[in-house]
Order: sequence, then C-alpha cells, then structure tokens
Amino acid sequence: MALPLATPVEIVPASDQVQPTSLREVTGLALPKIGLNDAVLLLSLLYSAFDIIFEWKNFSRCQAPVHWWLVVSYIFVVIFRVTHTMGQSSANEGEEFLLNLRQRKAGLRALVKVTWMLVVPFFTIWTAMGSYWLSQVLWYTPECLPMGAHPWFIIFWQALSYLWIIVHIVFGIIAMVLERRIRRAETDQRNVEEDSDVLARWGRISDTTNFGSMPWKHDAGLRAAEIEQMESVKHFGDPAECSICLNDVVQGENIRYLPGCGHLFHKCCIDLWMLRRADCPLCKCKVTKDHIKGLQGRMA
Ligand SMILES: [Zn+2]
Ligand SMILES: [Zn+2]
Repeated sequence: MALPLATPVEIVPASDQVQPTSLREVTGLALPKIGLNDAVLLLSLLYSAFDIIFEWKNFSRCQAPVHWWLVVSYIFVVIFRVTHTMGQSSANEGEEFLLNLRQRKAGLRALVKVTWMLVVPFFTIWTAMGSYWLSQVLWYTPECLPMGAHPWFIIFWQALSYLWIIVHIVFGIIAMVLERRIRRAETDQRNVEEDSDVLARWGRISDTTNFGSMPWKHDAGLRAAEIEQMESVKHFGDPAECSICLNDVVQGENIRYLPGCGHLFHKCCIDLWMLRRADCPLCKCKVTKDHIKGLQGRMA
C-alpha cells in the first residue's frame, strides 16, 4: 500500500520562539576580522591619503582633480574590504558570498545587492573618470603633481582598479550563470510537480529548495521535458517494490521502466530523482540523452 510521505510540521507558539540577540543573528553579518594583509593595505592607504591631503594646495593647480579621484578610490577600497570580509565570514563555508544572489539572511542579501547594483557600477565609472582626469593632467599640467604623487604611482593604482573591475565582472557573469541554472531547475521542478502523484507522495518540493540544495554545481540531472519523453505506463501484475520510496508499486499506479536497465519505479519517484541525477537508483546504469532519443524514435 502506497502511503503519502508527509513530514509533520511542529508549530511553535510565538512566545516560545527564541528571540535573536546578536548582530549576526539579526542581519546574518559577522564583524570583520582584520588580517595582516588588510592591516598593511590600510596603513599604506592612510599614509598615501595623508600625503595627498598635505599637498592638497599643489594639486589644485592641476588641470583635473586627480587628488579627489585618489582619495575617493581609497575610501572605496577600505569600505569594500570591510563589507566583503563581513559578508565572507558570515557566508557558508567555502562559498564566495557574492556569487549567491539568494542569500537567506537580510543583511547578506542587502550586501550582495548593494555590491552588484551600486558599488561595482560606481567604481567602474569613477575609475574611467580617473583615467580621463589623469590624461588631462599629464597632457596640460604635468608639473602640478607634487613629489608624493608620481604619475607612475597613479597609473599603477589605476591598473589595480581596472584589475578589480575585471575580476568583479567575471564574478558577476558567474553569479548570473548560477542564478539562471537555479531558475531552470526551479522551472523543471514545478513542471514535474504538475503530476498530482508527485504532490500526493512527496508534497510540494519547489517551496523548500534553496541555493545550497539546488543541483547547480553539476549538470547531472535531466530536464523536465526530457523526463516527460520517457515512457510511462500503468502497473499491472504482482506488486513490486519501488526502491526510492520503499513502498510497493500496486496495480493501476503510474510507473516508468528506465531505458537501459529496465528497472521499475513509481513515475512520481523516478521523475524527481531524474531531475537531480540521470542514473538508476538501483544499478547506477546511466540514462543518456541517446536513450531518450531512441525511445522517442520507437514511439514515433
Ligand atoms: Zn516510489
Ligand atoms: Zn537499473
């Protein structure tokens, strides 16, 4: 007899729920820990910033305000390092938090949004503006640069800024590819769930999935459309065990025989399995796209 597998949900009265107490529990953000590299960076920037402020009057003779460009980009680097360290130390182990556009904690989610929608675009525009200002200064008033701000130093800092921008553009592309994969997996899951047997036996799964449980690291499963192409029949004859839900497959239930090995499962069980991995749960025989194409040929 096949029984729906529903997980009982325990309802906790509001008064018994634990109230969050620390900053980390409320926002999902931990305070940054400053390492040696960051300390050296911070000191160098401070030193250079003081130098520029000391020579502010000399800079004002320049054709364009490169001193403003330098100071604002220093401030930006410090803010970025602090927020990035905070985000990274609050993220899951081994996860680059900027790649996950679906952070569950509000603080992390806001940080990811601000980084991609404000910080990266602003810094890109600001750096391009800096390049233009520097070219103006070098062309019209190269003698205005004081001793502490050699052109080669500004050019070096510009190169570092562009490197940072390129790295983040690559990160942004990876984050978008991952997000697209998650959306595709969600659509597939919803399509498979349209089968009422899936809902009856497993409940709604698409509501409970999250970034970590999505098969975004490996493209190991099949698409919903490919699963749909596999033949499904009604079972008749003696009961047989479905090795996914461990219930018997009884007469009249929808089943699928896997192409390749021919093992039999409930349709609703094997469909969910196939979304994640395209092999037989019993014998590990692969279900390939060729198998599915072969099936299609046979049915046509
Ligand atoms: Zn089953
Ligand atoms: Zn098998």
